[in-house]
Amino acid sequence: MSQQLLNIAKEYGSPLYVYDSEKIIAQYNRLSKAFNKVKSLRLNYAVKALSNISILKVFNALGSGLDTVSIQEVHLGLKAGFKPENIIFTPNGVSLEEIENVAKLGVQINIDNLSILEQFGTKHPNDPVCIRINPHVMAGGNTNISVGHIDSKFGISIHQIPLLLRIVENTGMNINGIHMHTGSDILDIDVFLYASEILFETAKNFKDLQFIDFGSGFKVPYKTGDIETNIEELGDKLSKRFNEFCKEYGKELTLAFEPGKFLVSEAGVFLAKVNVVKQTTSTVFAQIDSGFNHLIRPMLYGSQHEIINISNPKGRERFYSVVGYICETDTFANNRRINEINEGDILCFKNAGAYCFTMASNYNSRYRPAEVLIHKGEAHLIRKRETFEDITRNQIEIAV
Ligand SMILES: *Cc1c(COP(=O)(O)O)cnc(C)c1O
Repeated sequence: MSQQLLNIAKEYGSPLYVYDSEKIIAQYNRLSKAFNKVKSLRLNYAVKALSNISILKVFNALGSGLDTVSIQEVHLGLKAGFKPENIIFTPNGVSLEEIENVAKLGVQINIDNLSILEQFGTKHPNDPVCIRINPHVMAGGNTNISVGHIDSKFGISIHQIPLLLRIVENTGMNINGIHMHTGSDILDIDVFLYASEILFETAKNFKDLQFIDFGSGFKVPYKTGDIETNIEELGDKLSKRFNEFCKEYGKELTLAFEPGKFLVSEAGVFLAKVNVVKQTTSTVFAQIDSGFNHLIRPMLYGSQHEIINISNPKGRERFYSVVGYICETDTFANNRRINEINEGDILCFKNAGAYCFTMASNYNSRYRPAEVLIHKGEAHLIRKRETFEDITRNQIEIAV
């Protein structure tokens, strides 16, 4: 694998994102299998994790649906060949107009506030709508990524169900799904099942449901010792409970999930070249040809991506702080044990499939990286590296 990545870096340059479709397919199949006791399962890949059209096509070929948060993501999905009915639109705080435009495309919409629900229901009582509930359950410990708790901006609070029911009744609108997305990390399956019970309880208020969407939050390991969501255990327990609920409800419903990270995180790596090895009195810095403009998760979330020196995998291990080249503190790793690094070496950052390229920017007027997809063993360029023209494209020079 290392040699293949080195060859790819040589051919396409650095910094570079490289994805492996085999891993994406394996994760998709693993999740499907964990829930194979459910009669109707729908996996909607969360586009925002990694939105390259070629990646979306891999999901389309698997029979996956899509979870989208902007009309632009919807258009990417349609361009990749998805049928509108296999796309769900789960935005937060977008305008009524955007929701109407997405609904017109035939995409399933999901509304997460009472104001828009009432306006949409009044104007389009016949359009099926899913509603996003906030069960106020805290999954994971980091308030940045736990969106189900009491002061979160996401979802309609379960304490407002009576108000919600009044709106549904007054408008005569058609609620065909209910949804929750509790946060980014399911560490404790019992917490998740507890939130699911709240969703089941809420579901009983609606007669015409077709699906219940349990969102996502599947955790994948980033560094050794990290806990990972036990998908098989979750599949076992939730499927059983879901099937019981369908009996109670008197109808076969579809169980939906919308994972991003679980499906693509481990399928991606980020390759960057070491420009400078800088020895100070206390630290050895390895400075790469990138920064938080290309991979912001370590600075934004404190996430620790494993870093491997693929140019010298057998070298003696030493301690390095891996930092970037932008004019800002951009630390990827502090005093990390890595095989001896020389200038020009290629470092490989793992778990770079989700929320890495999609969060990249042009800060410091740098080009965003290229992207490569290894599909059926062969490397394909799926996004060109930017050029100076991309930096100036929309700028308008005035006479000064
Ligand atoms: C981001 C997002 C997801 C995907 O979350 P992951 O942690 O990447 O699996 C799913 N649903 C909604 C509504 C989201 O906003």
